[in-house]
Amino acid sequence: MQKNEQLVKYNSGKILHDKDGRGKDRPWRKKKLESLKYAEYLKVLEMKKAFKVQDCAETLTFTKNADGKPTLYQCWFCRSRLCPLCNWRRARKNAAQLDMVLREAVKQHPEAQFLFLTLTTKNTENAEALKAELLKLTQVLARKILRLKKFKPFLLGYVRSAEVTVNPDDGSYHQHLHVLLMVKKSYFSPKHYMKQSDWTELWKKKMNLDYTPIVHVQKVKPKATGKEALRSAAAETAKYQTKSKDYLSKDRTDQENVQVVKDLEFALKGTRAIAYAGVLKDIHKSLHLDDPENGDLLHDKPTDEKTTKVVEIMVAQWSYDKKNYIWR
Ligand SMILES: [Zn+2]
Repeated sequence: MQKNEQLVKYNSGKILHDKDGRGKDRPWRKKKLESLKYAEYLKVLEMKKAFKVQDCAETLTFTKNADGKPTLYQCWFCRSRLCPLCNWRRARKNAAQLDMVLREAVKQHPEAQFLFLTLTTKNTENAEALKAELLKLTQVLARKILRLKKFKPFLLGYVRSAEVTVNPDDGSYHQHLHVLLMVKKSYFSPKHYMKQSDWTELWKKKMNLDYTPIVHVQKVKPKATGKEALRSAAAETAKYQTKSKDYLSKDRTDQENVQVVKDLEFALKGTRAIAYAGVLKDIHKSLHLDDPENGDLLHDKPTDEKTTKVVEIMVAQWSYDKKNYIWR
């Protein structure tokens, strides 16, 4: 414990209920149980980080906020790519950051428009194919599609995320990109506008595919719908890269789940779950937001906590017996 901290007894021996703004319990227990399951699979795979994952968020330190309610103050996260606990924190953080960036973008460029683009290819069958395909998707998007002479002049910035889901029937991998594009209004003139079929053709051609891929493109109307549409496109972009139900599936055997974990660990290593570019990247930087993947998972937004006064802290600890977090 640091010098300016003082441990206080709070609900000692009782189960942790960490409520969010709407009075709902935050899913610490559910995520911790999933994380422990994931750690078990990593042990089967003899991956050293299994022990780090097992210790993820074992101790939650809270302090009292102005209303006297416990607020998370310190916690150690394992940061493993597939850790359900860390992914929950990352997704929250990504969503909060993207929301701040988009608000600022709309303020600075009130004329700008947004497009939500989803780019897919046929499912892949194994880890090597998935890894290669993910790399190809992101490279073709950045180097060929968004640099096109007929589109680049209208592009102000974008944020893209990569997602992988597992087909429950045959276990194949479905890799796809979500891209929120910020464009100039002039893009929507009949001369420059590209329909969904144009995007599909373009994607097929630049990806060199011998089949017609599934591509979705949709204009986001922040003004007309009270920013709701922009927010939901943002949420879609900022969501999980993988969902834990896909590799901790109750419909598959442990052995099958272990194989999926092994494949995803290999395929996702070194990839970026979310990337900003152009004006949106500049705004992300100007707001001093940290790296959503390697930054602080404690806070969703930057805080200024330069306090020198004594902080009262309360500690909840994971109990393997009770399979829950218990206040000390
Ligand atoms: Zn973790």
